[in-house]
Amino acid sequence: MFAGEFHPGGRTPKHEHLSADLVIVGGGMAGLCCAITAARQGVYVILVQDRPVLGGNASSEVRLWMLGATSHMGNNNRWAREGGVVDEIMVENLWRNPEGNPILFDSLLLEWVTNEPNITLLLNTAVSAVEMCASGEIQNATAYCSQNETRYTLAAPLFCDASGDGVMAFLAGAAFRMGAEAATEFGEGLGPSEPNSELLGSSLYFYSRDTGKPVTYVPPAFALRDIAQIPRYRELRVSDTGCRLWWLEYGGNMDTIHGAEEIKWELWRVAYGVWNYIKNSGEFPEAANLTLEWMGMIPGKRESRRFEGDFILTQQDIVEQRRHFDAVSLGGWAIDLHPAEGVYSAAPACTQWHSKGVYQIPLRSMYSRNVPNLFLAGRIISATHVAMGSTRVMATCAHGAQAVGMAAAVCTEEKLLPRQLLEPARIDALQQRLLRAGQHIPGVKSCDSDNLAAKGHVTASSTLAIDVLEDTGELRAADLPCALLLPMTAGPVPEITLLVDAVSPATLHIELWRASREGNTTPDVKIASASAAVEAGKSIPVTLQFHTALDADCHAFVIVEPATGISLHLSKAQMPGMLTLWQKMNRMVAKSSVQTPPQGSGIDTFPFWLPDRRPAARNLAVRISPPVKCYEPAMVVNGWARPWCGANAWAPVATDKSPALQIFWDTPQTLRTIELTFDTDFDHPMESVLLGHPERVMPGCITRFELRTAEDATIAAVAGHHQTHWRVTLQEPVTTTALKLVILDHGPAPPAVFEVRCY
Ligand SMILES: Cc1cc2nc3c(=O)[nH]c(=O)nc-3n(C[C@H](O)[C@H](O)[C@H](O)COP(=O)(O)OP(=O)(O)OC[C@H]3O[C@@H](n4cnc5c(N)ncnc54)[C@H](O)[C@@H]3O)c2cc1C
Repeated sequence: MFAGEFHPGGRTPKHEHLSADLVIVGGGMAGLCCAITAARQGVYVILVQDRPVLGGNASSEVRLWMLGATSHMGNNNRWAREGGVVDEIMVENLWRNPEGNPILFDSLLLEWVTNEPNITLLLNTAVSAVEMCASGEIQNATAYCSQNETRYTLAAPLFCDASGDGVMAFLAGAAFRMGAEAATEFGEGLGPSEPNSELLGSSLYFYSRDTGKPVTYVPPAFALRDIAQIPRYRELRVSDTGCRLWWLEYGGNMDTIHGAEEIKWELWRVAYGVWNYIKNSGEFPEAANLTLEWMGMIPGKRESRRFEGDFILTQQDIVEQRRHFDAVSLGGWAIDLHPAEGVYSAAPACTQWHSKGVYQIPLRSMYSRNVPNLFLAGRIISATHVAMGSTRVMATCAHGAQAVGMAAAVCTEEKLLPRQLLEPARIDALQQRLLRAGQHIPGVKSCDSDNLAAKGHVTASSTLAIDVLEDTGELRAADLPCALLLPMTAGPVPEITLLVDAVSPATLHIELWRASREGNTTPDVKIASASAAVEAGKSIPVTLQFHTALDADCHAFVIVEPATGISLHLSKAQMPGMLTLWQKMNRMVAKSSVQTPPQGSGIDTFPFWLPDRRPAARNLAVRISPPVKCYEPAMVVNGWARPWCGANAWAPVATDKSPALQIFWDTPQTLRTIELTFDTDFDHPMESVLLGHPERVMPGCITRFELRTAEDATIAAVAGHHQTHWRVTLQEPVTTTALKLVILDHGPAPPAVFEVRCY
């Protein structure tokens, strides 16, 4: 028993001093992906999160689905899912939680962080002060945990602010912006004519559940009664729960930091008012058995402070896909801007303007220009209000933060400050380390001189080519423009034979297009066209010839024009780096099938070419002659680890009973580490919650395999695999003249290997 005597001067809480190589404030997707990346490089990290779970807006407290450049598959960014730790998390979430249960996602994030011995995780701990050195660097941060009544002093040579509002950067005195820059400041077509203080608002929503019997609902007194105050109330649907209600937004014309509690109360008023309308207006009889299952307690915040780095990312960087010498990450979400009045505005709840492809994000946007030892991660990076309309989505935040984690590792090893990484050799080395960790930096190729696999001869038991995609008995009317997106090799363009049904004689027109910018999959350069007469009948093969050649490997579009009375035969066959697309619109991220921006906005006009999502996705049934040989074994060491200007994958033929890939060396090599990159369909967005997915393992993923030496000794035997990357560091290095990857099982699509690395 302990009796606390009266303490006339009061008491102080328990105080702990902790030190590390890197202190990260904020355990949202940015902070945690930064922490894991750094920790895996040997950096000792303290990750401070003021709430009980990780994930920020992706956590079960807010329940937003994590997204990035794939944009719900609603723009032209094919195979654009972010790589590295955030990919690992999304792929694992699919394996464990294809239904998108936010509670399971929480536990996955907690596991992923606590798996790292180099991370000290402080949950329920809020950073509230910093102490500065005379040099202008942060010396330490003060944090307090209300659960264990402990005050922490957290010291490190490097800090990273991933707190969303930038609390640490603010306290450290770093330069920041809040509101929208005038269009003239950076020449941004989407900017306002005058600078203003408008922000994107915050949102909060609810989940409902069918109880199987009628449920009455009595709203709290503070619920909004006059639903007509919400101009879009007629769009409310009972099926819209969770983040489908993203447009219940408020606070964009307030101070979203100091007004956060006031904003929350208004959002509760709105959300309970909406539920009251659904339950009690009589407009939704189908809601009779529904109860409120969950109501958001913490609004998701879209925008507050943006901090200034040595570079401020702008609209033009995004739309023109400008290149940066210090590119370390990618973005690809639309520039997604909302009216500041949010739910009370009569204007469309958002405008989303997409680029023709993904864009690079430079390291110079990821550290403060004033506080030399402070990295920035998440939505606070150095970008204009307009550019932040795109960079703010969570997979983009997380992917950029991984670059910060790796940059922090280099800084730790070489005792550098962030800005000192800009020296060209250092940037090059940083990019190469990031690529090895799975990062996708658009247009930056891996060329790792230590990779022994790239010095060997790569052969295979068989090699797939694109020749015949068998008709599987389904038809689709040729009423929309449709395109085969093919990973073509340089040289003469092969003959294309489609299989069609025609109700009457007709002419089929096709065109060959490619993208004007390397790596893009927006067709904006026409190369050739061809036509063929079609007789009336069923299963008619129609052969078309372009009589042209490609000067380089690229993704080419064979566009089939709409034709009345014609149906195209479809195939269930799937091929790596190949898709069938339709010119159409995805309502979640666009308002028409052709992006048509306002004049002078600086946004491009172009059509969207979208694949269907599985399980509905099909290819056109097609015969290609001569076959496209785009899956050669050497692809696994060509420096590209995903489809980009081609498939960049090896895959065996379907009839190969013992598919295997082999790397031979002229002289024995000592192998310590082996790293493989498999096909987990980088086109699939893997939304983390709510939406649900039809598969737990991606169709082209190799699920069971062995690695063997030239002497046929088994180095590794792996089963139940479902991840993009598989890496092993051998307990005993192996000296051999060959490495053989034997595929023992895989999903329904050809098992593809993007990359093999040996060290
Ligand atoms: C309604 C809405 C819809 C959106 N739609 C999407 C979408 O569909 N897909 C998508 O990917 N993104 C979406 N976004 C954007 C996205 O959610 C945010 O931009 C993103 O969460 C920013 O990531 P972050 O890691 O910087 O911040 P956050 O996710 O906010 O994480 C920051 C973390 O820092 C913690 N923190 C804050 N202060 C402190 C402190 N003092 N000490 C310790 N920890 C602290 C917070 O608790 C939080 O966990 C949406 C946002 C909103 C609000």
